[in-house]
Amino acid sequence: LFIALEGGEGAGKSTQSALLVKWLEEQGQQVLLTREPGATELGKTLRQIVLDPATGDISHRAEALLYAADKAEHVDSVIKPALKSGAVVITDRYVDSALAYQGSGRDLDLSDVERVNRWATNDLRPNLTILLDLPPKRGLGRFTERDRIEAQSDDFHERVRNAFLELAAAEPQHYLVLDATQDRQDIAQQIRARLQPMLPK
Ligand code: C5P
Repeated sequence: LFIALEGGEGAGKSTQSALLVKWLEEQGQQVLLTREPGATELGKTLRQIVLDPATGDISHRAEALLYAADKAEHVDSVIKPALKSGAVVITDRYVDSALAYQGSGRDLDLSDVERVNRWATNDLRPNLTILLDLPPKRGLGRFTERDRIEAQSDDFHERVRNAFLELAAAEPQHYLVLDATQDRQDIAQQIRARLQPMLPK
């Protein structure tokens, strides 16, 4: 079972993924929690490059390919082996982040970003994507220091938010969209209710 957690900055993905891991383990599941970018040795280097403000302005296609390279390594060396071993895999960000940030945020052609990402992931798709939706101003308000992407304009973050919502609206059966302004325990409860029937026996 492969679950992706998506959402803008400060939406509570880390909090919810930690609560989810705890609950899944209580259900007797083997769980792997991972994230993008930066889950592998290569990924750590790529994360450093894309998020360091000192990187400055780089070609948007180059940026998209750096994220895609992180993803290819992540899928091949972390996600696929864990799924093969029977684990429930939860990834904090996945292809939708690429479509939202590099596609809509950077204004690259969405079908190009999609093609590159399908290739990078060998078309491995999550069984469910949990979208934590939050107005960008609220999420970003939680940070005092911003990485290179967080430091983009309000308009950029609005485009990212809308892109996530549109992806979910296009395939509602594959998504759980949650209002991330809710209490964290209430959000966790809605995630559990949706996942319970999907858990491996
Ligand atoms: O989720 P986390 O805060 O670790 O993400 C790291 C940064 O990478 C965030 O600023 C996020 O906006 C950015 N990112 C991105 N494109 C992706 C994945 C993450 O711009 N495909």
